[in-house]
Amino acid sequence: MSVVPFDQREGVIWLNGEFVPWADARVHVLTHGLHYASAVFEGERAYGGEIFKLREHTDRLFASAEMLDMVIPYTVEEIDEACRETLKRQGYRDAYVRPIAWRGSEMMGVSGQSNRINVAIAIWQWPAYFDPAHLERGIKLDIAEWRRPDPRTAPSKAKAVGLYMICTLAKHTAERKGYADALMYDWRGQVAECTGANIFFVRNGELHTPTPDCFLDGITRRTVIDLARRRQIKVNERVIMPEELPGFEQCFIVGTAAEVTPVGEIGPHRFTVGDLVRTLRADYLSEVQPKAAAAE
Ligand code: PMP
Repeated sequence: MSVVPFDQREGVIWLNGEFVPWADARVHVLTHGLHYASAVFEGERAYGGEIFKLREHTDRLFASAEMLDMVIPYTVEEIDEACRETLKRQGYRDAYVRPIAWRGSEMMGVSGQSNRINVAIAIWQWPAYFDPAHLERGIKLDIAEWRRPDPRTAPSKAKAVGLYMICTLAKHTAERKGYADALMYDWRGQVAECTGANIFFVRNGELHTPTPDCFLDGITRRTVIDLARRRQIKVNERVIMPEELPGFEQCFIVGTAAEVTPVGEIGPHRFTVGDLVRTLRADYLSEVQPKAAAAE
């Protein structure tokens, strides 16, 4: 299968207020964001021509930037509009939206106060994050050696590029061993999240999910909690220790890219893909559709 590299795709990218041809959206090698991880980003999905919870994502982009002492030189409204306009120009109904903000090239060194804050928005088609063939039995998760950092060690709640270094390492190890992804514990040894998605467990008809005190409180996570509550399903946000894993019946992970994906295995532990996971997946896939279309 030949895959077109990401710097050679079709269309336009919004870059610092202008639309530029896809191939021309470049940065210099001496860019602060590249050397010192001074960059934050978002991952959004458009369904039926509308970006799901766009404002929440844009708000999080600005909040992440603030956590990295960066001020995005646009308003939230301008970034929302730029995302919508880029989607329109790309001509996609269903797509993945990637805004990113990073410190530029004016200063090279640990300090970066004078660097321009650059912003780009790129949109491409990204169907399913995990092989749909695994939906029936659930994906297999490795248990990562890497742990989500103490909030005193890193700005854990920012969607900041530096936090993905350990995610990439954990995912490489997992894939090498034949797993689709990896479950990460946090620095205390509590169950935390996956490399790009939050995690839920089911026991006796109730949901259990770790309290997001040192990792991203995902927008999909919050959406799924709302959907579960609408069905009177009890949601327990709490500390979950690895010793509890054998006692859960079902498991699934949630994220913008992953949507709601059932999990069949975590290391030695087995889970069934049951009705509750299937129902919440269906609820989520209907929730993300534009409201007007859903009413038809
Ligand atoms: N955790 C991590 C590490 C992620 O990268 C993501 C994806 N952004 C999530 C959780 C889920 O967040 P969301 O539902 O907002 O996409």
